[in-house]
Amino acid sequence: IRYAEGKGWYDARVEARAPIPMDPASAVLHYAQEIFEGLKAYRTADGGVTLFRPEANADRFVASAERLAMPPLPPEAFLDSLHRLIEIDREWIPTGEDGSLYLRPFMFASEVFLGVRPAREYLYVLIAAPVGAYFSGGVKPVKVWISPDYTRAAPGGTGAAKCGGNYAASLAAQAEAIEHGCDQVVFLDAVERRFVDELGGMNVFFVYDDSTLVTPPLTGSILPGITRESVLTLAAEAGLTVQERSVSFADWQADAVSGRLREVFACGTAAVITPIGHVRFPDGEFPIGAGRPGRVTMELRQQLVDLQRGVTADPHGWVHRVL
Ligand code: PMP
Repeated sequence: IRYAEGKGWYDARVEARAPIPMDPASAVLHYAQEIFEGLKAYRTADGGVTLFRPEANADRFVASAERLAMPPLPPEAFLDSLHRLIEIDREWIPTGEDGSLYLRPFMFASEVFLGVRPAREYLYVLIAAPVGAYFSGGVKPVKVWISPDYTRAAPGGTGAAKCGGNYAASLAAQAEAIEHGCDQVVFLDAVERRFVDELGGMNVFFVYDDSTLVTPPLTGSILPGITRESVLTLAAEAGLTVQERSVSFADWQADAVSGRLREVFACGTAAVITPIGHVRFPDGEFPIGAGRPGRVTMELRQQLVDLQRGVTADPHGWVHRVL
């Protein structure tokens, strides 16, 4: 779907995937006005196809657009594009337990000009690809690296928006995590360098004393994850105490060592819920729990997966039947 100032959204069409011709002075190539979303279409046991909370992705796409001074794509147009592509690609949606069709909506400044101001022309595109299980051979706890130098987003920045620039800023830190033998980077807050923000592509949760679930608050520098919000709701309904409050890395370490912090997990659309089993930082490292996935983590994971796959009833109206 194209957008031009004064004309609005126009020219919605479906076409075979092909390169997008770009002028070298296309605004996005210079000023990074680009936003995206990520969601999955799941095959249900009866052969149907569902999306999980796509309205939340549509709303976040609007919020990201506003932060990057881009025109908001109406949520109906966003949802309609998902429906149309899923219908066309229905045969590509894996039927197995773990597979899904990954959907990537994105929008960028297509106007040809050099100059720092919001572009006047944009292109919204949706692509899709079948993906297999995130974990092959069972859920494995991951190792995380606490980035000592890099931050992902500062107050007033674009941390709460899903824009390509945020991920460009996180690549060096992610590479550093890999160099230190870890799977994922954990970012600390940009101001005090004390509090845990999130992982490179996931939000983080701490489980204390088997009964209290804590996640950092949405202060503007972390992405408001849809999985995060779903976990908060499900955990509260399961009778856990849920708290959105800051957790310092010093407390994370002290509480893990004392045993009060039983489990830590990360969550996001790609992996749903990933247990964190080991933490490494420049001055040392420590394990979480026994290095095995914790009970609360795995119960919440199962609940979410069963909901997404239509195995259990959906009292929240989160599961959106497409086919
Ligand atoms: N934080 C970041 C930086 C992410 O890229 C993602 C993945 N979109 C998340 C958190 C989790 O968000 P969601 O649950 O909406 O996938």
